[in-house]
Amino acid sequence: QIHDAVHTFAPRALPTPEPHLRLKGTEPFTLTPEENIVSIGERTNVTGSPKFAKLILAGKFDEALTVARQQVENGANILDVNMDEGMLDGAAAMHRFLSLVTAEPDIAKVPIMVDSSKWSVIEAGLKCLQGKGIVNSISLKEGEEKFLEQARLVRRYGAAVVVMAFDERGQADTFERRVEICRRVYDLLTQRVGFPPQDIIFDPNVLTVGTGIEEHANYAVDFIRATHWIKQHLPFAKVSGGISNVSFSYRGNNAVREAMHAAFQYHAIKAGLDMGIVNAGMLAVYDEIPKDLLELVEDVLLNRREDATERLVAFGEELKRKATASTTTAQPVEELAWRKAPVQQRLEHALVKGIADFVELDVEEARQQYGRPLAVIEGPLMAGMNVVGDLFGAGKMFLPQVVKSARVMKKAVAYLTPFMEAEKAAAVAAGHAVQTQGRILLATVKGDVHDIGKNIVGVVLACNNYEVIDLGVMVSCEKILETARQQGVHIIGLSGLITPSLDEMVHVAREMERTGIKLPLLIGGATTSKAHTAVKISPHYSEPVIHVLDASRAVPVVSGLLSAEQKPALVNQLRDEYARLRAQHAGQQVKLVSIEEARANAPKLSFDDRPRPEFTGKRALTTESTPGVALSDLVPFIDWSPFFHTWELRGRYPAILNHPRHGEEARKLFADAQRLLEQIVTGKLITARAVYGFFPANRVGDDVELYTDESRTRVLATFHFLRQQAEKRDDTPYRCLADFVAPRPASSAAEARDYIGGFAVSPGFGLDEVVKKFKGDLDDYNAIMAEALADRLAEAFAEFLHKRAREEWGYGKAETLSTDELIEEKYRGIRPAAGYPACPDHTEKQILWELLDVERATGIKLTESCAMWPGSSVSGLYFAHPESKYFGVGKIGRDQVLDYHVRKGMPLADVERWLGEWLGYLPQKPEPAAAPVACACGTAH
Ligand code: SAH
Repeated sequence: QIHDAVHTFAPRALPTPEPHLRLKGTEPFTLTPEENIVSIGERTNVTGSPKFAKLILAGKFDEALTVARQQVENGANILDVNMDEGMLDGAAAMHRFLSLVTAEPDIAKVPIMVDSSKWSVIEAGLKCLQGKGIVNSISLKEGEEKFLEQARLVRRYGAAVVVMAFDERGQADTFERRVEICRRVYDLLTQRVGFPPQDIIFDPNVLTVGTGIEEHANYAVDFIRATHWIKQHLPFAKVSGGISNVSFSYRGNNAVREAMHAAFQYHAIKAGLDMGIVNAGMLAVYDEIPKDLLELVEDVLLNRREDATERLVAFGEELKRKATASTTTAQPVEELAWRKAPVQQRLEHALVKGIADFVELDVEEARQQYGRPLAVIEGPLMAGMNVVGDLFGAGKMFLPQVVKSARVMKKAVAYLTPFMEAEKAAAVAAGHAVQTQGRILLATVKGDVHDIGKNIVGVVLACNNYEVIDLGVMVSCEKILETARQQGVHIIGLSGLITPSLDEMVHVAREMERTGIKLPLLIGGATTSKAHTAVKISPHYSEPVIHVLDASRAVPVVSGLLSAEQKPALVNQLRDEYARLRAQHAGQQVKLVSIEEARANAPKLSFDDRPRPEFTGKRALTTESTPGVALSDLVPFIDWSPFFHTWELRGRYPAILNHPRHGEEARKLFADAQRLLEQIVTGKLITARAVYGFFPANRVGDDVELYTDESRTRVLATFHFLRQQAEKRDDTPYRCLADFVAPRPASSAAEARDYIGGFAVSPGFGLDEVVKKFKGDLDDYNAIMAEALADRLAEAFAEFLHKRAREEWGYGKAETLSTDELIEEKYRGIRPAAGYPACPDHTEKQILWELLDVERATGIKLTESCAMWPGSSVSGLYFAHPESKYFGVGKIGRDQVLDYHVRKGMPLADVERWLGEWLGYLPQKPEPAAAPVACACGTAH
């Protein structure tokens, strides 16, 4: 019946196939003429992206997938995948990676461009593709037969194809050759293979201009002309090109390269270019290129003047010079497009990206728009900071970026402050209170000088609209409590670096309790811990005491404590957690052996190899006047890994620079650090000083005696060491640093011959001024950076000086270690530092200070807690024994502490206070009821 009904009608005419290039991952992608240009993600290419290559070579395919994901998230329409690397089985790697991609819906949605110069790799890739991808590339290089065979296979696998303008004679580098090859390819593919013309993508070879070679001058022009010709004469065919090739001769000058890419692409698109393979981050916006630069760039690209190359080179150098001269990070031209957005978005962009250049302009515009300065802070600025806070909280922004955001916020607020003062006066006059989110007092406790961590926390809190009162370093308990009361703060935060500060924190907590202060107390800093906070501090104070691990935890903790709804739950949870920690701690009993037993099982070392140092006595050095000791000499000794830890970026340098999650931030941070370091070093903005020396020395029990001369008759100083007492399950010895020094024999001085050394270094002189200047410019980022660099230089100086000391001691003369090996401390000998695990007693520094006359020789001082000022200082002792190594003393018994207090001549209670963390027993409180203990020092305790 259907037949009867329709047999009189002719079949419909088939619609002419759409001449668009249509591709597909799991979602279709159609290249229509309106589609300006296709963006091809090119970071998943081992030849173009060292980061991706490293991941693939290391077999970290999962992490490599995140690179692909980022590309798609950043808007790539197509993903180029290339595994052409000598060390790789390209076909296997292609297969594995594409199989993984297929399982990731958010990546697999885009079509894949299988990129290889090897046909076997391409075919391996084609076998994994779902949808319709692109082959990149085939060519006539090896003749027509091979070409046709490959083209037929591409067609069978159902992919589009990029054809390079190559033939049996080689690469086309003129307009005529390009046209000749493309025409031939087009005919072969459409007539012999039946390839749909819209699936043919020509790559007419982007070649490098500005090389200074005359034949190269017209390369860009020829590419553009060829593109135009293809679009005119080869219907529906597409044109693609590797844009960044054009600018290779300007490598190292990104401003010029970005402009070249943009201008070249702009002209090529006008001629009909459909796809450009270019790193989107290396592409400026054509309209945003400064006119003078654009003219020079186009002179080169369009071959408009004979001297175009030289003029652009000169201008490029000038640009570079200007960029490095300014302390703010140069913003790539491309990003300036954001300046066109409404003021709210501009402020948000400036805050998120940390760009301070326009903030005053924008804030003023916002102020006029909003009428009131506070409305600007509470409106667009807070909105922007909330975005920053959310991104940081979600792990999408990192600490250095947040500190840069804070710099923008501070500048904005500083601009508004005069207006606000006026407004506040008016508001108060009208009976309204002006509110911040909360007022927080921060201080590094008495005796301690280190404050990088505290400064970072302050910055992070301030940019979340908390008012921060930072009292700085070495702040007495009285001052903290008085300020808290006077200023009506809502939270107190204490910071400390060295172990004696833990005690000082306990003291502050007790005083807060005694004086009836009812505020939450935050605890932070290098030696603090949740366990210590729970066990040692919180029992002394009835309000919440909370350990804050790092800056990223500060905001959630503070906001929880200040929120009426969240606080009860938070406090309950903390109480439970800390109670659990205390219970755990109480259950932990380390079994100790007696000090006699420990000594009987000391290591048995031989003293056959006891080199004599070149000199005995002390020497001072300074970058002000000592030849061979300049700041620049210290730089190669810098261990950069801890620098990144300071900024809460985890990982080891240099691998961290390619970290899949925060590698980019690490690179920016590192570049900023290099810039400031360069300024500090060339400008001699700080001075480093050191003193060190060698002394005849012998072990006497667990002490080491230093003598005035080789006769070893007069004792110059005595260092006191502690021995491990925690019971060992095997026969490893119970160590003590004194073991590394030859014992004093009863008979001759010659037999006794042994030495130890001591040192103290600091590059921190003048640092305060540098920091102050940055803070004055509201530039916390560089202020913190300067402190972090000074810390690095201090450790580097210690390493530098230790090398010199080993040479002067003789045994280091034959050393052939690389800088990396030096930083890993692979040499003979150690330099233990008082307060560290092998010699945890900080007060031994007092002996070193006297021995080397450190303060007079260098200016480095000891605080009452034996912290060193300037904060970026390092000191310690040199041991040369071939078997000397670092260890931890661990918990010690009361028997050893009693012995130690006698050896040292320091009251028992003081020793117990200094060694609080290391006591393996509960010291008796100095209460009158305590049973007196007879002691070798003659008094009863
Ligand atoms: N390259 C690192 C070096 C500092 S940490 C940096 O730049 O930060 C290593 C130093 O800490 C050692 O040289 C020594 O002075 C000290 N140290 C490490 N472990 C120690 C231990 N167990 N006892 C005493 N001092 C120790």
